[in-house]
Parts: sequence; structure tokens; C-alpha cells
Amino acid sequence: MSIHIRGISKSFGSFRALDDVSLEIPHGTLLALLGPSGSGKTTLLRIIAGLEWPDSGRIEEDGTDVTDRHARQREVGFVFQHYALFRHMTVFENIAFGLRVRKAPKQEVEAKVNELLHLVRLDGLGGRKPAQLSGGQRQRVALARALAIRPKILLLDEPFGALDAKVRVELRQWLRRLHDEIGMTSVFVTHDQEEAFELADEVVVMNHGQIEQRGTPDEVFEHPATPFVMDFLGNVNVFHGRVEKGRAFWHGIPIEYPDYPHDQARPARVYLRPHELDIARSNGHAGGSSGTDSGPNGSLSASVLRISRNGAIARISCRPDGADSELHVDLPAESARELAFQPGERVTITPRKVRVFLPDPEYVI
Ligand code: ADP
Ligand code: MG
Repeated sequence: MSIHIRGISKSFGSFRALDDVSLEIPHGTLLALLGPSGSGKTTLLRIIAGLEWPDSGRIEEDGTDVTDRHARQREVGFVFQHYALFRHMTVFENIAFGLRVRKAPKQEVEAKVNELLHLVRLDGLGGRKPAQLSGGQRQRVALARALAIRPKILLLDEPFGALDAKVRVELRQWLRRLHDEIGMTSVFVTHDQEEAFELADEVVVMNHGQIEQRGTPDEVFEHPATPFVMDFLGNVNVFHGRVEKGRAFWHGIPIEYPDYPHDQARPARVYLRPHELDIARSNGHAGGSSGTDSGPNGSLSASVLRISRNGAIARISCRPDGADSELHVDLPAESARELAFQPGERVTITPRKVRVFLPDPEYVI
């Protein structure tokens, strides 16, 4: 089922939680709503669910206006961060709940619940109480319960937020397979970009009740539309530079910036990702791969401060000459070992890709 959100706004008192949000979610998509706490993700999900009503705007499902329908009339299933299972009921009865409410025949309930227990890999555990399950198992019960009514839309609000890292990774891969098997439209709320990027077909980045950017994980990562998205995705070097006459300058390195052709110089923010920088011992061989992007022309001189290793990646922290702040360069640990940089050494750093953003009224630098 496709979902069409048209110009939704919602305030709580004088606080505007959603500000004219529009979004089309095609049938069969697994979409992640990604954003910091308080950006309006849960409010939007609850409005899609029919648990909350917008002040203005409409929601359509497959072209039918459902704005005024309650959750029960919308064929949606939801899963929240806190399992919200009925503690006094067995796993079987928890999953059966929605079917019993709908007065499904006993045999049908039995067959359906057993099928769901199998689907969420909890065969044989139907007789247990929630307290006798692990966190990951309980969340799978919550998912089976949501799926029991054969929802056309599955809504998940940070469903794995309370679980430990290893279980989260397992469950998100499993959820992806389940989504594909069942062929639903799913909306998944998270503040964890890794989770969003690994799981989703499309990512919607929210900030202050508005959509900052929507795209595939690759599009959002490779072409962040705003400084907010760039910052939110993290792991980035940020510097102040300036822009004039179609070029930005950072440490004397010119970067094409045709969007600002004016003569008057303006301050700009310059973003460099650590893995998009080449580093070489001054007069030595380059580390990292050489990119084919039409990147900036030029290099800068820096001194190595320290080298740290994180799994397969080594991070070389440097101080560009004349700069107050550090510049981080990431290399495959293997390359870093071969290059064997030492603190205090002189290096040349060449950006393969630089992103420049001008300050705007929404985003003060
Ligand atoms: P997120 O899920 O992105 O963390 P929410 O949608 O839960 O954000 O909340 C967005 C903002 O709206 C928050 O500042 C929150 O305090 C406020 N808010 C949400 N629900 C209510 C409510 N029922 N009453 C008052 N304020 C609310
Ligand atoms: Mg929330």
C-alpha cells in the first residue's frame, strides 16, 4: 500500500512538532525516518498510524484519504521501542490478541499464530511468558503480534533501541528479509544512521519538524543536501573557509563553487570526509586511492599529531600549517602500516572531494 503525506503540520501548544511535511512512500518500500531526538519522527509515525491527528494536511493510502480514520480502520501494525507485551499473557496469546479482538475462528487463530511463531523463529516458545524471553525475543514477539492482523503498513518506532548492539544488528538484517518476504510498506524510525543506512531503501532525514533530505542511503551519504545532514551523518572534518567569484578557498586550496559567482567574499563551511583525503609523506608516496572525481586542485602541508587504529581503519590526526584545528585522515589499516607515519612527521594532504555550504538563516555558522 502506498502512503501519501500531504502538507502535515502539528503543534503541541505553541511548539511546532511538524511543519508542513509532505512525503510519498511507494508500495513495498522500507523507509527510514532518521533524525535527532525531538525532530518529530514519532509524531509523524503516530499520525501515519492514526494514533495522532494533524492540525492541517492529509494522509492518503493508495489514493484514499484516511486522515480521519482511527488506527483500527487503517490496517497498520506497529512496534515500539518498549515491547509493550501483555505480561500476564503467554507469547501465544500476545500474538493472538489482534485476531481475537477481530473474533477470528479458533482454528484460524491457532494456525496463524503458529505460522507467525515460525516466521519470527520462536517455534515452541508459545507457552512462555514475556519475562521468560530475552530482549531480542520479546521484540520478535512484538513484531509477530503486529503482523498477525496482516497489516498493509508496518510502522516501527526505534524497535531495537533498547537492545544491545549485536542483537540489534541481527534483528535489523532479519527485519529486512521479513519485509521483503511479506511485501509490505514499512516505515522505520531511528536516530541511528548506521541502522537507517543498512536497512532502508530510502532515508528521510528530519530536523525541527521538517524534512531536510530524502533519498537512497547512497544519495544521502554521497550528496548531503544541507550542512545539517552533513553534520548529522558525522565523521567529518569541518572548517571555516570563504567563497567568492565562483570559488571557495580553504587553506589556499581553490574549490569550484559556481553557485556563488559574486565578487563579495562570504564565509563558508568546508566539509571534508576523512576517507576522501589522500596523505603522503612530504615528497613521498601517496596513501589511499586516487579518486576520479573532479575534486579540488591542490594540497596542503601538515604535521602528524598521532595515529590511532579502529578495526580495519587507521586514523591519522594532523594539524595543517597555520590551523588551530585538527584534520583527520582515514586509511585502510594495511596502508597505514606500510606508510608507517610517525608523530611530528611532515605530510602533504590532498582532498579528493570537498563539500562547501554557505551559511543560511536556518543554519548559522
Ligand atoms: P522524535 O521522535 O523525533 O524524538 P517526537 O515526535 O517524539 O520527536 O517529538 C517532537 C517534539 O514534540 C518534541 O519536542 C516533543 O517534546 C514534542 N511532543 C511530542 N509529543 C508531545 C505531546 N503529546 N505533548 C507535548 N509535546 C509533545
Ligand atoms: Mg521518537
